Amino acid sequence: MTLHQPPGGQPLRSVDALADAGLVPPERQDALQAVAARYAVSVTSAMADLIDRADPKDPIALQFIPDAAELVTLPQELADPIGDDAHSPVEGVVHRYPDRALLKLVHACPVYCRFCFRREMVGPGGDALTGAKLDAAFAYLAARPEIWEVILTGGDPFILSARRVREVARRLAAIPHIKVVRWHSRVPVVDPARISADYARALRIPGKASYIAIHANHPREFTDDARRAIAALADAGHVLLSQSVLLKGINADEATLSGLMRVFVENRIKPYYLHHPDLAPGTSHFRLTLEEGQALVKSLRGHLSGLCQPTYILDIPGGAGKIPVGPSFLSGCETPGAEAAAEDRHGTRHSYPPA
Ligand SMILES: *Cc1c(COP(=O)(O)O)cnc(C)c1O
Ligand code: SF4
Repeated sequence: MTLHQPPGGQPLRSVDALADAGLVPPERQDALQAVAARYAVSVTSAMADLIDRADPKDPIALQFIPDAAELVTLPQELADPIGDDAHSPVEGVVHRYPDRALLKLVHACPVYCRFCFRREMVGPGGDALTGAKLDAAFAYLAARPEIWEVILTGGDPFILSARRVREVARRLAAIPHIKVVRWHSRVPVVDPARISADYARALRIPGKASYIAIHANHPREFTDDARRAIAALADAGHVLLSQSVLLKGINADEATLSGLMRVFVENRIKPYYLHHPDLAPGTSHFRLTLEEGQALVKSLRGHLSGLCQPTYILDIPGGAGKIPVGPSFLSGCETPGAEAAAEDRHGTRHSYPPA
């Protein structure tokens, strides 16, 4: 499959390339080779340009530059944390919920996030879904009328050329029971030069509703180029949603998280999911507790527009699926006939009568 190269610089794909660009200090170069041998590395020129080389805790660098902490794997961490493999009936399809299925067109991404939940599966090289395999995946979707929505993920489908994307769109358009198509991508922020008005049109599925879930974790990812790419997608008629991971040291503080949700809404992206980090191997340095996450999400409710509120989600390890994990502002309603306590945004409790 042709993966087209965007205009602009080449991505940095090795520790040596990162060192040459001043993004890894020479004394750490050797130690990080072991990380790069285990997990894929890629930093696009847009993201490399955004990193403040003088700040050792730069939130963009922490997302993409390998770290020796990744060599620490905890016993509870899983190669397939959300159980994709157990729900894969044919190669490239993950079908866990009756009404919707994932179609994974590619394994590669423009960047490799250090906290990636599919880090054992994504990477350069792995085969893209083409030919007979792609035919089998479409045959599976076409044969199951209960599939109402198809979610295109991977890997990142927006590394495909406009020609390939149009072909996938045409094949999805031909399946009558599919009403909704959702693309998941990090390209609009990490490699915005790929998104032209023509590309945005290629992503439309004739006769279906198309949603694009854009993965971003820090307000600084919204460069002028990213804003232009996102506007092109919205102007082409796609409904835009957000997807973020709550990450220690990157966005797990009230100011950054509020700023992120606001910048989504300002760019016509409705906050959708804020993911608690998955138990991916070598990612414990990014994880916070569920309780810390709930406190942060609760703080958003206090001072941000309802448009800015994401749903805080845990994907239950092993494949049982996604659940919202609060926080709850209501207590006591489990007891029949009892008054419930409703907590307002200042923390004051108010009683609410039983029905
Ligand atoms: C996350 C996921 C979905 C989409 O879930 P929504 O809650 O609809 O966003 C669908 N299938 C699988 C296998 C998933 O992991
Ligand atoms: S873009 Fe998504 S799939 Fe790709 S490395 Fe980042 S988190 Fe993983």
